Amino acid sequence: ARRNVLITGCSSGIGLALAVKMAKDEQKRFKVYATMRNLAKKEPLEEAAGRSLGKTLEIKQLDVCDEQSIKTCVNSIPDRRIDVLVSNAGMGLIGPIECQTIDEMKTVMDTNFFGLVRLLKEILPDMKRRKSGHIVIISSVMGIQGILFNDVYAASKFAVEGFCESLAIQALKFKLQLSLIEPGPVVTEFERKVFEDGMKMDLSAADEETAEMFTNIYLKNYKQIFQSLGQSAEDVAEHTVKIILAENPPFRHQTNTLYTPMTTLKYADPNGDLPIDTFYKMVFHHDKIFSASLNFIKLLRWRSRKSFDLGKPSQ
Ligand code: NAD
Repeated sequence: ARRNVLITGCSSGIGLALAVKMAKDEQKRFKVYATMRNLAKKEPLEEAAGRSLGKTLEIKQLDVCDEQSIKTCVNSIPDRRIDVLVSNAGMGLIGPIECQTIDEMKTVMDTNFFGLVRLLKEILPDMKRRKSGHIVIISSVMGIQGILFNDVYAASKFAVEGFCESLAIQALKFKLQLSLIEPGPVVTEFERKVFEDGMKMDLSAADEETAEMFTNIYLKNYKQIFQSLGQSAEDVAEHTVKIILAENPPFRHQTNTLYTPMTTLKYADPNGDLPIDTFYKMVFHHDKIFSASLNFIKLLRWRSRKSFDLGKPSQ
């Protein structure tokens, strides 16, 4: 049977790419409800969807920060049946915390964390009743490991991961599946917007050393990191579809193999110092130590290779 898929944040990036990819599935296995906060931004999605629009893809309004809009959207779906929920809507925030307001931080938590909670409050009870459903969350590698000047964004994704780890135990009892997709850097609107906001940031509340660190180290390397490590939204969408089609989808899936050595450090040292020291050396003593740590990382990676086999989707 065709599975109903609801995806949030489809006006750009990963959400758009995923909605289109699933709607254009050759075997027509999905009916995609591609949702976005602001329908005035639907044109790129409509264009990319092409002939699938109105057939295997429908566009609907949904703001993850507005409970009523979630309810209205879910009620408009036949039998309220959502077989696969992809919680994708999210936003970034970079910079020294001295220069961010609590309100800006709350908006990030409200979107990235409470956005997921609101969706599940509406959709989980139906899934539990039916004893079927797959909840897929676009988290981040920053959901398991923090990065310089991403304090609040990382916190919002850690919140998502903690919430899901707890919920996954209950979900198992109801035969529901839950998967966290953890991309590294992805070249989307997100990256462009976060960078622009960073460039515009008023750094007067920060001391000179911090402001300098943010501008001359973080922002300076930002583009380069996305260029060298960045994936495309389509690439992340492809990984996500494979997870959705897998017979036994994993709880966690990292999409960027270039990044896995870094996250491996976290699991390699129970004291937690190894990833922090490595990031510190990468950021502040760039050159020699960087290549030395890369070699070390390769060794760890080789020792801990136990990644989910994406080879054969089941359906
Ligand atoms: P993007 O900015 O292109 O997409 C995010 C989408 O969420 C946008 O369409 C935006 O309008 C939407 N959105 C924001 N607030 C919303 C709200 N209240 N209600 C509904 N929609 C809302 O960026 P993206 O990279 O495609 O981001 C998608 C997800 O991937 C996010 O959760 C992000 O945290 C995650 N992610 C991104 C990267 C990256 O480097 N780009 C890396 C890891 C994880």
